[in-house]
Amino acid sequence: MSSSVTALEQGRDLGRKIQPGPILLLGAPGVGKGTQAKELVKLWGIPQISTGDLLRANVAQGTQLGRVAKEIMGRGELVPDSLVNEMVAVRLLEPDTVRGYILDGFPRTLGQANWLDGRLATQVESLPVVAVSIQVNYNQLLRRITGRRNCPVCQTIYNVYMNPPKRDGFCDVEGAALVQRADDTEEVFKERMRAYAALTAPVVDHYREQGRFAEVDGDRPIAVIAAGIVAAVEKLRG
Ligand code: AMP
Repeated sequence: MSSSVTALEQGRDLGRKIQPGPILLLGAPGVGKGTQAKELVKLWGIPQISTGDLLRANVAQGTQLGRVAKEIMGRGELVPDSLVNEMVAVRLLEPDTVRGYILDGFPRTLGQANWLDGRLATQVESLPVVAVSIQVNYNQLLRRITGRRNCPVCQTIYNVYMNPPKRDGFCDVEGAALVQRADDTEEVFKERMRAYAALTAPVVDHYREQGRFAEVDGDRPIAVIAAGIVAAVEKLRG
């Protein structure tokens, strides 16, 4: 058995023992928050709440929020806190969040973090949040972002450099033509990294100072990182 498979098996054993509660996945664009969130969903059966995915769904549906967000996202900037907080508030009312949820890409500003902290403080039955920050170096992130392709049908994520599909440009599972996100270009990536450094890095410090915080090295096989996150959450919930 490979070491990464063993690591995920160990993670699974750990993961079954705990009540996950609210989990924040923090980290720069391309560190693998979405990929890891999907691993944790399989393990714990709690939902992934990706503000990027929710915003893209609004753009695709042409809602009022989507029309405002489209331009901002295309520039690699952040959508205003009030709009994102409201969208998250509505999503957190869904009954599937009762045992916990994985917030992926939220909070991204101190304003969002303070809003979330305030909201959770009013919910006595909710466990406190556990924050996990995934670390990957800049050059690696650039390759991940510019090489990223998604299946529009099953949402499987590929990378043309590191995890290519068997047939160039097509999903292994669905056979659908893969798509690239409009903001996954080098130019927009640089703006997203600037927004991350200015606005989101302080959020990482905010949760580090609160405790219930862990950092994991995101430059390892997916299953090994997932096992690291599970072990960290288990320890912080212990
Ligand atoms: P993501 O899929 O998480 O990389 O997000 C894609 C884009 O959606 C970001 O570059 C932002 O423009 C926007 N976005 C996603 N989440 C947030 C958030 N929490 N606050 C503000 N803007 C967001």
